[in-house]
Amino acid sequence: MNNDKSVTQTIGHLIDGQRVNDTARTQPVFNPATGQVSGHVALASQATVEQATASAEKAFPEWRNTPPLKRARVMSKLKVLLEEHADEIAALITAEHGKVLNDAHGELQRGIENVEYASYAPELLKGEHSRNVGPNIDSWAEHQALGVTAGITPFNFPAMVPLWMWPMAVACGNTFVLKPSERDPSSALFIAELAVKAGLPPGVLNVVNGDKEAVDTLLRDARVKAVSFVGSTPIAEYIYSEGSKHGKRVQALGGAKNHAVVMPDADIANAVNAMMGAAYGSCGERCMAVPLVVAVGDEVAEQMIAGLSAEIAKMKVGPGTDNGNDMGPLVTKAHFDKVKGYVDQGVKEGAKLLVDGRGLKVEGHADGYFLGPCLFDQVKPGMVIYQEEIFGPVLGIVRVKTLQEAMQLINDHEYGNGTCIFTRDGEAARYFTDHIQVGMVGVNVPLPVPVAYHSFGGWKRSLFGDLHAYGPDAVRFYTKRKTITQRWPSAGVREGSVFSFPSSR
Ligand code: NAD
Repeated sequence: MNNDKSVTQTIGHLIDGQRVNDTARTQPVFNPATGQVSGHVALASQATVEQATASAEKAFPEWRNTPPLKRARVMSKLKVLLEEHADEIAALITAEHGKVLNDAHGELQRGIENVEYASYAPELLKGEHSRNVGPNIDSWAEHQALGVTAGITPFNFPAMVPLWMWPMAVACGNTFVLKPSERDPSSALFIAELAVKAGLPPGVLNVVNGDKEAVDTLLRDARVKAVSFVGSTPIAEYIYSEGSKHGKRVQALGGAKNHAVVMPDADIANAVNAMMGAAYGSCGERCMAVPLVVAVGDEVAEQMIAGLSAEIAKMKVGPGTDNGNDMGPLVTKAHFDKVKGYVDQGVKEGAKLLVDGRGLKVEGHADGYFLGPCLFDQVKPGMVIYQEEIFGPVLGIVRVKTLQEAMQLINDHEYGNGTCIFTRDGEAARYFTDHIQVGMVGVNVPLPVPVAYHSFGGWKRSLFGDLHAYGPDAVRFYTKRKTITQRWPSAGVREGSVFSFPSSR
């Protein structure tokens, strides 16, 4: 393994529009397909993070007063640059995350759609106006920027999740400090540099790479007014409580365990195809992945198992640089060990391992973090592999007898990010969508990820905070409402002193 820092690049920070290398502490970044070190990411010190926050604070007054249309034009320009550089960005994602290039392009495209939405900022920020709320009195509400805002993002969508956050934050007139995942930091940094090229003034968007030290510095700095977080539930909960304790507005999106209910009347072939992508796409490292099929009736379970086993046998697993592969490696050796440990645990717990991906060898990639697709039957609610988020290519079948039983399982689960139902019965689907305790629901759609002009968020322990990510909720999250009531006294409407509470008499 190549751990020699001198022959690999250092991935630093972007502060005040400039690359900054604070290399006192670094951490290796790996190519998951080869197990080789591809670079070293700088882990920002408290002083470096404070420098980024100071830069954002300095840039705020002018950026806040920049007309929204001009801010939006930067987003329009960025969209074009992102499209022009899509191949480079996808290559950076694949090199550090491992996902297949086509999938990296898909993630980037969904990110670009958030940039596109942010370019509608003038329309979104228009506010509300009422004339004559009283005699000659007008009242209006406007969305004012908060100041310095921050985002902390996970490894699994290194380009898209940052784009859920900062484009809307800056389009609303805020400045931003982004702390990407230290496991695959390069694409977010590259995109931030494109934003500077698109015309974002220095300091409006800063990127600090780092770990807990950087995050804690942001959480405790009084200049940071709001924090958006996406990552695992224990950290989301920590970010929410620590950020709130320091007086910040916080939205913290956490982990998931998404169930797909398959009804006896479903189009089984369609459900099988949908589940293949939902369970194994991006190696199961998606918060909207579907690691559990809840089969209503044994016959459905048998049909799903037959279909899934046949499709799994056709799957190609290998480096993400080859678009002929369906699935790449897991992100790190530590994550590989964790996911493999869950498979071992499932076997010990008594679930039936029908397809075992643990022995997979990818030719020429002996040190890569490849785990083949795994399929369990007889997964039961008491098992750890049912309860915990595995975040790997492991699909479990749970057998139930009725839709009610399936829904009870989902509603009892600690997570409530996404779910879906496969059925031809509109009444069942409507009942399901109405009563299920989950934030994002699909009907014959396995990954119901809202588009950029809706908002994204789960329920229960999948989200801490009130507002969802991106879309209309982002306007609310990244602004504070100010309501102004105005009267210009003139001879006809001048009143004497009034001591009773003003009302519309
Ligand atoms: P993670 O929680 O390990 O890390 C997320 C971020 O938190 C990173 O930037 C990391 O540096 C930082 N961090 C980690 N430990 C910290 C600590 N102790 N104190 C302060 N900061 C810390 O998550 P991950 O492994 O990068 O991402 C996978 C997780 O993210 C999964 O649980 C997945 O479900 C979740 N996720 C959720 C959504 C969603 O929208 N709900 C989307 C994508 C990913």
